[in-house]
Amino acid sequence: MNNNKKTCPVSKKCGGCQLLNLSYPEQLKLKQTAVERLLKKFCRVERIIGMDCPYHYRNKVQAAFYTNRQGKIISGVYQSGSHHVVGIDSCLTEDETADKIITFVRKLLPSFKLTTYNEDTGKGFLRHNLVKRGFATNQIMLVLVTGTSIFPSKNNFVSAVLKKFPEITTIVQNINNFKTNLVLGEHQKILYGKGFIEDILCGCRFRISPKSFYQINPVQTEVLYNTAMDYAQLKGNETVLDTYCGIGTIGIVAAKRGAGRVIGVELNGDAVRDAISNARLNNLNNIFFVKGDAGEFMSEAAGENESPDVVFMDPPRAGSSPKFLDALIKMSPHTVVYISCNPETMARDIEYLTSKSSYSVKKIQPVDMFPHTRHIETVALLKR
Ligand code: SAH
Repeated sequence: MNNNKKTCPVSKKCGGCQLLNLSYPEQLKLKQTAVERLLKKFCRVERIIGMDCPYHYRNKVQAAFYTNRQGKIISGVYQSGSHHVVGIDSCLTEDETADKIITFVRKLLPSFKLTTYNEDTGKGFLRHNLVKRGFATNQIMLVLVTGTSIFPSKNNFVSAVLKKFPEITTIVQNINNFKTNLVLGEHQKILYGKGFIEDILCGCRFRISPKSFYQINPVQTEVLYNTAMDYAQLKGNETVLDTYCGIGTIGIVAAKRGAGRVIGVELNGDAVRDAISNARLNNLNNIFFVKGDAGEFMSEAAGENESPDVVFMDPPRAGSSPKFLDALIKMSPHTVVYISCNPETMARDIEYLTSKSSYSVKKIQPVDMFPHTRHIETVALLKR
């Protein structure tokens, strides 16, 4: 592991990497201490699993485009807490190919007389670039987010990008002509390729479209999911719930690893649609997805005397709800695998569970999914 600190010329303005002033081992130590402070009272905390190479781990890169007063085109990120674009050609956390593609697109604009979108006037052409790369498949998607649907010299522009980056497998134009902070608009046109890419995680294939949610650090996501599967100890005939399932990744990996029957539940309808097509892509017919609030779903299932063997829960930062946890206690699966992106709410929920039932925490494993940032991911195993 590289113990030296790396510096970034725009780290203050960008604000994305809050821990860059620490070496990577120091960052891991800080995260370990933070998890221990909150969770040690329940169980010994395993040593945090860091990355061998904690750089350029992001498989998804977004850049805003802007023309400054001198007429120079800038691409990069919004200054933290503002709408001012900080120019970036390369970033310590972002995929290097993605950064090169975005820089190339920026340099190409003037020769095609293409402008950047102006948020104040609502005029102009290019607003954002979004690049996603499947690290396992090396499929690359470039999304050009434009303020208008008219794309002058479209074919020549696409050819020029592909000539420089033949590894790009699909190019999409997404039209966003709204005054909004959202990067992507509703309408899109496929300019080249299939309009989506695929990636492989834990031996399963996942389809990723411009709008699909997908974990941004696939190397550590495999570590995280493998830990979760190791904790679940599936034997082959269990009923498994994947709650807060997103596009179904955890449940699909569990189904592939031999779970008898998997039910996923997720609030976001687009994610549920992706989950269903991902199950098909992996030839699985023992996994089902429900769109709805996880707490609501759990309490209905508990009312119907459902008795799952294993429950995976991966709630958002706010954590789970008393409704969910009460239903979980009522159903009393022998194993609960809690995956969390916020150790504070995880500690709150575990406190609730262990004080109101006979569950106790058997293992706690932090995983560093977001090097140089303050975010911490943790998996905990609870047993009845
Ligand atoms: N398990 C997935 C996604 C985890 S992110 C993965 O590993 O990729 C948390 C997910 O919870 C998001 O997809 C979010 O849409 C969903 N979510 C948030 N609140 C929810 C609720 N009340 N009920 C069900 N799902 C919810």
